Amino acid sequence: MRDGLGDMARAMLSNASPDPGPNAHNRHKESPAMPSLNLQILVAACLGVLIGWLTGTLPAESGLREGVLYASNLLGGIFVGLLKMVLVPLVFTSIAVGVANLQAHHQVHRVWLTTLVYFTATTCLAMVVALVAANIFEPGAGLSLDLFADAMASFEARQLTMPEFFQHFFANLFQNPFAAFADGSILAIVVFALFIGIALVAGGERYRNILVLLQELLELLLRIIGWIMRLAPLGILALLVRLVAEQDVALLGAVGGFIVLIFATTLFHGIVVLPGILFLATGRSPLWFWRGAREALITAFATSSSSATLAVSMRCAEENLQVRRGIAGFVLPLGATMNMDGTALYEAAAALFVANLVGIELSFAQQMVVFFTAMIASTGAPGIPSAGMVTMVMVLQAVGLPAEAVAILLPIDRLLDTVRTAVNVQGDITGSLVVQKFADGDPRD
Ligand code: ASP
Repeated sequence: MRDGLGDMARAMLSNASPDPGPNAHNRHKESPAMPSLNLQILVAACLGVLIGWLTGTLPAESGLREGVLYASNLLGGIFVGLLKMVLVPLVFTSIAVGVANLQAHHQVHRVWLTTLVYFTATTCLAMVVALVAANIFEPGAGLSLDLFADAMASFEARQLTMPEFFQHFFANLFQNPFAAFADGSILAIVVFALFIGIALVAGGERYRNILVLLQELLELLLRIIGWIMRLAPLGILALLVRLVAEQDVALLGAVGGFIVLIFATTLFHGIVVLPGILFLATGRSPLWFWRGAREALITAFATSSSSATLAVSMRCAEENLQVRRGIAGFVLPLGATMNMDGTALYEAAAALFVANLVGIELSFAQQMVVFFTAMIASTGAPGIPSAGMVTMVMVLQAVGLPAEAVAILLPIDRLLDTVRTAVNVQGDITGSLVVQKFADGDPRD
């Protein structure tokens, strides 16, 4: 198998570099799509369902059944454990490096302020779309999976009212970073990473070595994620064998509804919300944008990687949509790392889907937790295929949902990653136009 994720990681790293340099486009051109892993995961998912179904037909006291379930439990546990293993360092390094990326761009304050306001506002809108749709259509509702019974045992204790939520939220924001790392307190890690990133920006050259070290650490982690993803077919197979063998197969109907919901809401964001913002801000039509940006959108769809698409996005923005190099070079690399509308939308909707599936109704306060953690998770996810799956664990855990539920999401993730990555990239390119308009004048200048 080709080292596709390794290439993606290198593309991501050059994206995260404080100085992409004049040859950045050439470096990104080398990043390929990963059809082989796509196919492996699809085949593994089918095999997992088949083996699981066959195992489910065996008598309960059968030794073969026990052996298959034991092995799949072991393998699936290792795979989920590996995903959890990289979560904390990944969130820390990708946010610190993402913030430190600001120092490379000698832009006025208005540029980065407009960029951050735009990123935050569009990500929030995407999650509002997701949460409203998930509350109306309730994907996965009515189906309770005993598979998660153990993991759910502690759920009751973690339910929070709104005042309690804010109390916990603010109390947990500032912590000893080492304790936060050890406990996996993601919010505290994010705050610490933001401080580090801002200090790196303020210190400039003085801290260049630390920034390089963090970039290297991020590259290292992406390499490890590449290895973990090689295990994904096996992990998914194992998790699905156990899932199907122990459950009724009505799951597929629920997953089918969820897939339709995700496609519909992601497309709504890409066809209505983002073009609406573009039109209101710049007066440009959706058709004009589509003609200028389609190369990048199709590349994003095919590669499922915002970072691998960056070179194409830059060319589309500069050559077709007349975004000046200074603005495109600031907004697009930062956006490829930190601005993921499609990912945020997906993670918010997926958390509600999992809650419905395990038969738990999330209160308004808990949905607010989902809202904030999905926002942080999408910001912390690097622009590589299935990165959202790694940070999805954080959203699930924030409201006490079982991390093992990624077993249900992973087999369909490659499919959903196509559209959400295209919308991620669309959000970045739209952002470069909006920022140019507000911070720098007319985009046609
Ligand atoms: N594949 C997405 C991207 O590169 C990230 C994700 O997994 O949501 O933008």
